[in-house]
Amino acid sequence: MRVTITDWIHKVLESFVKEGDLCIDATMGKGGDTLFLCELAGASGKVSAFDVQEAALAATREKLDRHRLSAQLILDGHEHMADYFREGTISCIMFNLGYLPGGDHHLTTRPETTIQAIKEGLKLLKTGGIMSICIYSGGDSGFEERDQVLAYLEKLDDRQYFISRQDFMNKGNHPPMPVFLIKL
Ligand code: SAH
Repeated sequence: MRVTITDWIHKVLESFVKEGDLCIDATMGKGGDTLFLCELAGASGKVSAFDVQEAALAATREKLDRHRLSAQLILDGHEHMADYFREGTISCIMFNLGYLPGGDHHLTTRPETTIQAIKEGLKLLKTGGIMSICIYSGGDSGFEERDQVLAYLEKLDDRQYFISRQDFMNKGNHPPMPVFLIKL
């Protein structure tokens, strides 16, 4: 049997997202999470996904076509997500930070824009909505983004947000760290 960190994140989100929900994939990459959110939100829901690379949109479009699903694919930085949606309307926002494996390691998410996007995302989430942030560190990712994102999250008001951080105790090599935030 195989359990991946991505499976684990999906398990958690499955218990929050319902058919008909509005969801955002803030870091489209190759579209794995976009596809996952489309399946959860169903035909009556809507998924929008952001990336700054045209190649990510192309890969995601192809993946969705193969599964006969559709999403709104936006070529723009996630730090501008508040331009596209109304506050308090989104059920789920997923971030998968870092760079695209097999792609250009310089086209990575960055602390300032990631934190800006999280801030915007918090406004867009509805009460009971969930945000997942999968944080990468070590190697080419370094530790700056992880440290700055965690420092930002730690200061959020616990009457407004329930936040849980996960670690994988026996995995070496700086495993990714998922964070789940629920808007109260
Ligand atoms: N680290 C993950 C993959 C992350 S992919 C893994 O190992 O599976 C991260 C994606 O975020 C990339 O496709 C990159 O182009 C995108 N990205 C970088 N900056 C962004 C921004 N400001 N807004 C939206 N997407 C961004």
